[in-house]
Amino acid sequence: MNLCDIKTIRDIMSIYNLTFRKEFGQNFLTNRSVVEDIADSCCSTADATILEIGPGLGVLTQELAFRYQKVIAIEIDNGLIPALRYTLSDCPEGVVEVVHGDVMKLDLPSLLAPAFDRGPVAVCANLPYYITTPILMSLLESHLPFESITVMIQSEVVDRLCAKAGSSAYGAITAVLNYYGEAERLFKVSAGNFMPAPKVDSAVVKINLYKEKPYRPLDEATLFRTIKAAFEQRRKTLPNALSAGFPDIPKADLTTIIESCGHRADIRGERLDIAEFVALADMIYQHRQNIQP
Ligand code: SAM
Repeated sequence: MNLCDIKTIRDIMSIYNLTFRKEFGQNFLTNRSVVEDIADSCCSTADATILEIGPGLGVLTQELAFRYQKVIAIEIDNGLIPALRYTLSDCPEGVVEVVHGDVMKLDLPSLLAPAFDRGPVAVCANLPYYITTPILMSLLESHLPFESITVMIQSEVVDRLCAKAGSSAYGAITAVLNYYGEAERLFKVSAGNFMPAPKVDSAVVKINLYKEKPYRPLDEATLFRTIKAAFEQRRKTLPNALSAGFPDIPKADLTTIIESCGHRADIRGERLDIAEFVALADMIYQHRQNIQP
């Protein structure tokens, strides 16, 4: 069945007594070539398992099911589960597993353990706007060995994820993402390709995760705390911003640390790339070890 067809979507919604639930960010894709392009680009090997977040009525799930060995689709909206059983009935047998739940609360390591034993695992989703950043952060911080994460999100957020250090779009999420992998902007998708149409344009981004991270901070928690402090007060110079994040370290010491990393004391945190953040965080970590009673 053609889930890009508006009448088909309306009919299925009516049969299963469904409404578009704003609180779950339900904007369903209606352009077949966009759906195909996302499914094609999310993974290079057919033996992969794809974790789909938010299948909705299953338009992307269908395409994934014909390209990859296994699709695990997590959907929060209970009402969509019986509809998915119907819309995915034409998919190759045994490929799609629909899981009812909130991706932020499910035990992903247990759910995906057999998939990781089988082969590569990639994430693919048309993500709900209301929770894009928390979902991306929790996938990255899970340390699960995903090959890649391909998601359609708000176009402005894609700009942020792909920004270079020193640009206005560069933020804490960019630096943190660069620690785990590299983001690549694939293509833009205008609001008219969804039902109902969202207020903003979207874009698809692919995050290729490092198998071996090129950075080895002495302490990850200090790295993330350093990045957070640098951007929480991004208009302030780095010694001032870090003072707020590390109140236990005198500002003069922070200035010395920043200068010994090769930066001017009046630099702003937004100019530092991830390698420079790692070097800075290592110095802060060592300093705190030394001053601890
Ligand atoms: N994949 C479908 C498509 O492209 O047409 C639907 C995409 S829609 C933008 C987002 C989907 O994510 C909805 O089906 C929504 O119910 C689901 N969703 C929202 N929050 C979720 C969560 N925390 N966990 C799992 N699914 C969620």
